[in-house]
Amino acid sequence: MFKLIIFDLDGTLAESKQPMSGDIATLLAKLLNVTKVAIASGGALPQFIKQVVGGLPRHSHLENLYLLPTSGAALYEFIGDDWNKVYEERLTEKEAKMIESTMLEVAKESGAVDFSEPSWGERVEYRGGEITFSALGQKAPIAEKKSWDLDHSKRRILQEKIAARLPEFSVRIGGSTSIDVSKKGIDKAYGVHKLCERLGIKESQALYIGDELEKYGNDEVIYKIDVATCAVESPSDTARAIKSLLSKY
Ligand SMILES: [Mg+2]
Repeated sequence: MFKLIIFDLDGTLAESKQPMSGDIATLLAKLLNVTKVAIASGGALPQFIKQVVGGLPRHSHLENLYLLPTSGAALYEFIGDDWNKVYEERLTEKEAKMIESTMLEVAKESGAVDFSEPSWGERVEYRGGEITFSALGQKAPIAEKKSWDLDHSKRRILQEKIAARLPEFSVRIGGSTSIDVSKKGIDKAYGVHKLCERLGIKESQALYIGDELEKYGNDEVIYKIDVATCAVESPSDTARAIKSLLSKY
């Protein structure tokens, strides 16, 4: 039985940027009754509240829930009746501006992004601990995003070229169209490591569930630490995994 279960968000608990289904919300609440749960994703805290917390049943055990927004650059825990920041590895505004201009330059030069087409919302978002470049814009429809880079090749080009120009930062593939930049060494593995430390739980007593654990996927970094892993393909697959876990507690 795991003492901590960590979930990726997009593609795992919910479709990209969408709220969780009622089914997943109910299962997650049941899991919170029996163990500690964390959620790690590239979005900022308000996105977690919208997609996850807002959908949980009333009286869910939020004191057992931990949020790792901006890919682990920040950690929040629920104390009293609010989310309290445990840490945040913030990028300065100066760093943010430099990262943003580098991302846009590389995207233009590489030809990976079609700037003749208007984007759905802003392409670059400053999230405190992380800067995210979304090739089609922050508000692009899911279907457009899913079909944009099926083989990861465009994101790999962007990631490699941005990383080459920003050696002092961590540069990762984020979602299906995005690249995330944070301080060096800050990623989901860092966040989960810090959380285990805070809770006094060995990494081997924790389980990470994600839809992109394969090579170049945005959950792959988790292999840097000692947690157990469970690969899923969709939120309905995750629902099955949670049911199977619940039967063991
Ligand atoms: Mg995912």
